[in-house]
Amino acid sequence: MKIYIADYAGFCFGVKRAVEIAEGALSQLNKGEKIYSLGPLVHNPQVVDKFNEKGIKVINNADEIDDGKIIIRSHGISGKLQKRLEDKNLQLIDGTCPYVKSVHNKVNKYHEDGYKIVIIGDKNHPEVIGINGWCNDEAIIINKEDEAENMPNYDKICIVSQTTNTQEKFQKLSDIIAKKGKEVKIFNTICNATNQRQSACEELAKKVEAMIVIGGHHSSNTNKLAEISKKYCSNVYHIETHDELPLHEISKFNTVGITAGASTPDWIIEEVIKTLENLNNNNMLEAIENTMKKIRKGDIVKGKIISISQDEVIVNINYKSDGIIPKEEISNDPTFDHVSMLKVGQEIEVYVLKMDDGDGNVILSRKKAETIRGWEQLEEDYNKSNVIKCKVVDVIKDGLIVVVKGINGFIPASQISVNHIGNLYEYKNEILKVKIIDVNRRKNKIILSSKEVEKEILIQEREQLWKSLKIGQEVEGIVKKIVDFGVFVNIGGLDGLIHISDLTWERINHPSEVLNIGDKVKVKIINLDKKKNRISLSLKETLPKPWDIFIQNKKVGDIVTGKVVKVFNFGLLVKLEEGVDGLVHISELSTERVKSPSDKLKVGDIIQVKIINIDEKEQKISLSLKAIEEEKNKQIEERIINEYNNQELDITIGDLLKKKRR
Ligand code: SF4
Repeated sequence: MKIYIADYAGFCFGVKRAVEIAEGALSQLNKGEKIYSLGPLVHNPQVVDKFNEKGIKVINNADEIDDGKIIIRSHGISGKLQKRLEDKNLQLIDGTCPYVKSVHNKVNKYHEDGYKIVIIGDKNHPEVIGINGWCNDEAIIINKEDEAENMPNYDKICIVSQTTNTQEKFQKLSDIIAKKGKEVKIFNTICNATNQRQSACEELAKKVEAMIVIGGHHSSNTNKLAEISKKYCSNVYHIETHDELPLHEISKFNTVGITAGASTPDWIIEEVIKTLENLNNNNMLEAIENTMKKIRKGDIVKGKIISISQDEVIVNINYKSDGIIPKEEISNDPTFDHVSMLKVGQEIEVYVLKMDDGDGNVILSRKKAETIRGWEQLEEDYNKSNVIKCKVVDVIKDGLIVVVKGINGFIPASQISVNHIGNLYEYKNEILKVKIIDVNRRKNKIILSSKEVEKEILIQEREQLWKSLKIGQEVEGIVKKIVDFGVFVNIGGLDGLIHISDLTWERINHPSEVLNIGDKVKVKIINLDKKKNRISLSLKETLPKPWDIFIQNKKVGDIVTGKVVKVFNFGLLVKLEEGVDGLVHISELSTERVKSPSDKLKVGDIIQVKIINIDEKEQKISLSLKAIEEEKNKQIEERIINEYNNQELDITIGDLLKKKRR
């Protein structure tokens, strides 16, 4: 293998300078003094770790400290932040790259001259945030073509770039932005170091089989080098250190190029070179062979998907040849669409079906690996009584065929739901929550129940409901059943009873006179007995009381119409309204002596009675027929007296009365 190192790989001038400034500060550090870096000094975790060991602590916010020395990294900061740090009496050690500083100055000047500043770059990158701070955070930051196209027009525009942009991107975006202003100043502030590194990377990527780009995974300029490399080379590996080198893959190439981001120190690049050089040595190749898995037919191994097609999935199982999963070995679920459900790069477990299919390929089965692992998990789920999910893949006469953890199982129709099931086909392709009620790996049998899960949920819901119910509370429910002695009402999962006497204020012969099955009703809880699981409800308690209505509208002395509903020896019971009765005592039946009330009236007679007393406390009403009679008599007497006076007839009042009564 030939190894080529790109020109300008590694620390740029600005980063090197910042690192030297930091090292200088460390060498002058007095005992007890602290030194901080506002954000990681460079975008390279290994360099940051080394500085941390030496005593430079990374902080993300200036508010975290009140004293000590603080290093400003090569990305620079805004003027406002710089002032804040100075106001806190922190000792500033300025590591801002002079190239970045010159962008600050340009932005500051043109902003003051009334230009709209446009920065081409990543709005979240600390360098861009710092630059924006020199024009009062008023810059427009553009990173994509559509952002440039949608930008408003301005009279005067000043365009600058994040120093690590690619030339191509800057050119494309600045051309679009330039059309948005009448007077446009364009400053290509991509730094020379970046230019040189990117051009060298491009040149090298064109001539090698594989490119290794070394640098922090979050480093903007390293990511750009990887982008450029991918344009010209189909095998690009972005690594932070030599440990990440995919040696097995790289050993296949004859020419390998190396470049490194601006924050990558020489020692990391050297380690990578050394590791690659060792690859040329036979011992190393042997070592790689040894790191490869030794696999046998029947093993379950982990692999990474490297390609997916309609007919097969190719998996890297870290073996000398890749493995193939034929379509029929992908899943037990016939509806599983492997093209959309599996992803390249995804790690999966596979079962080795055949070591060599004749063409040197290993034949694998994802389905079988799933089945084996599935049985292990299902036995555990059964023992722990876990609730698991399954998918209904087919419907047969007696129940549902499901796939659970890659294995076919069965839910008998009687175990599907606590509710009545109409059409089993409604469950096809549904995902159900189930419990395993029987499992036998030897007999390949898994019986599941979704009803058990529903039951548990119902129990929990009932428990919750019991806790929430209170005597006196009004709740809504649905009439479930009507029996002679009352009505059962379901109130959110629990059944309560409205006794016939609690249905209405009226007298009824059967509950069906008041409610029908399926009626929605508002009821009042009048008793709760959790031990006996009894809830007593009342419908009439939710309705206005007839007694209250009656006494609001009637008073003593009023004459009302009623119906004789009962005849006693001592009097009559008269129904005045539904739920309101009054008593006519025998002594109030007539002005004449009555031997027995039944001589005078019978059940069903409609009569007029006078209210002679209302006992609100006892809710009793006394009525009188006699009082009406007396009143009538009085009226007659008065009329006769009047007639007598007027006509001066020679008859006695007694005679007249006798005549009248006849
Ligand atoms: S990439 Fe250029 S601008 Fe950025 S720190 Fe390095 S030398 Fe300075």
